[in-house]
Amino acid sequence: MINLNEKWTKVLSILKEEIPNESYNTWVLPLVPSVFEKNKLTLFSPHSFTAVTLKQSYGEIITRALAEVFKEPVQFEIIQDKILAENFEKAQRKVKKEEQKKITAEFSESKYDALKQMLSDCHLNTKYQFDNFVVGSYNKLAYGAALGVAEGKAGEKFNPLFIYGGSGLGKTHLIQAIGNYIFSKRKLKVKYVTTEEFLNDLLENLYHGVEKDTFTKGAEKNKRMTKFRQKYRSVDVLLIDDIQFVAGKARMEEELFNIFDALYQGGKQIVLTSDRLPSEIKGISDRLKTRFEWGLMADIGVPDLETRMAILKQLIDKEGQTGFSLEVIEFLASVYKNNIRELEGAYNKVCAYCSVYGEEPTLDIVKKAINYNSLSKKITIDFIINKTAEFFGISEEEIKGGSRVAAVAYARKAAIYAARELTGDSWQSIGNVLGNRKHSTIMYSYTEVKENMLRDDKLCDEINTLFNIINQS
Ligand code: ADP
Ligand code: MG
Repeated sequence: MINLNEKWTKVLSILKEEIPNESYNTWVLPLVPSVFEKNKLTLFSPHSFTAVTLKQSYGEIITRALAEVFKEPVQFEIIQDKILAENFEKAQRKVKKEEQKKITAEFSESKYDALKQMLSDCHLNTKYQFDNFVVGSYNKLAYGAALGVAEGKAGEKFNPLFIYGGSGLGKTHLIQAIGNYIFSKRKLKVKYVTTEEFLNDLLENLYHGVEKDTFTKGAEKNKRMTKFRQKYRSVDVLLIDDIQFVAGKARMEEELFNIFDALYQGGKQIVLTSDRLPSEIKGISDRLKTRFEWGLMADIGVPDLETRMAILKQLIDKEGQTGFSLEVIEFLASVYKNNIRELEGAYNKVCAYCSVYGEEPTLDIVKKAINYNSLSKKITIDFIINKTAEFFGISEEEIKGGSRVAAVAYARKAAIYAARELTGDSWQSIGNVLGNRKHSTIMYSYTEVKENMLRDDKLCDEINTLFNIINQS
């Protein structure tokens, strides 16, 4: 994992040499690196006009410095952060006029504390708001329910609110928007946590500590666990992202169940997201499933082309980018159909490509930037079977046939998983090529591999290598 603060410090040392002192202190120094994802760095600023000022005057210098430190083209965006802004204003009010020059420097020391405070208290990222969430028919229900919960109008009917849908389609955005709204407008105590973070927190509290005699250890553990439970039970709104990962983790389930009941009985709001319905989360108890289904379940489907274009257009406008024609926007939105995160990633790639090579985002350049040719190369089920057989050192006939020898069955399942992931073809058409197997058999094998990959690193590596071979052939 990259250490963002470390990288940003390196970028700062380059920028300090290249940007005049005054501008550097005013605009650059107060920036706080927030997220690095898909070749894009998000920076928080206390000022609303930093983005325009910096992009206009020093955009190229910053892009170059980022590329040098990250060793690849990196886009950046600058967002005003409300908490940083408030702290900055407070600091400004405190200091007398003649000392004002020192403010920025002083502030930059305290900025991490301010952010840390916010992150540790409620764990929210202010970039996710209702205002910048594009609504279409596919997410209308989830959006309406989320807003209802945020405004506090929903009452018991929407408790818990369970938002489910595929990856990259806005679940985290919505659940965080609820948190941001409640935190800033209703001033309630909000806690956002991913299921993974919750699990890590639980394990840390359960097993942390140096070797001591059992008695002391037990007492300390009890104290820690009481604090842990208190932390989650003392909130007004608990937001848990990606709850499907609770599956198969009995201890976590138990804790979650108790927290859930305590909050629910206290009339506190709970919001959960998942990539599937409660009934489809295997390996959790019925009592927890039932709890998940008590309130409202709202799904997010697949966005239509128009919505995908609107989301992309919003991103372009926000960044003040010019040169993106409607044709290019439509093209990008039509290539990335099922995942907004991928669409955003592609857009960032295009921007990085254009700024590094000094190009305009014409259709040809966009195709080059996203490597469209290899993307659109049609991978067929037959091709996948061929490559999988070669990879596992068995014959294509064996993969298609009925052998139950472990090595053959293993390779067959890998082929099924690859076929579904890489072609997106229907269960039945994959079944037809694989020795006329039933749709349910294919689906079962696919799910089995997918779930095993979560636990089995060796399988995960093997599948990734196979994918690379198929994609690069
Ligand atoms: P998920 O949690 O479902 O995997 P995310 O909420 O992380 O997906 O969304 C991926 C990216 O797409 C985020 O940057 C998010 O802001 C953006 N996004 C998704 N849906 C929308 C939408 N309807 N309007 C605006 N941005 C969206
Ligand atoms: Mg998410």
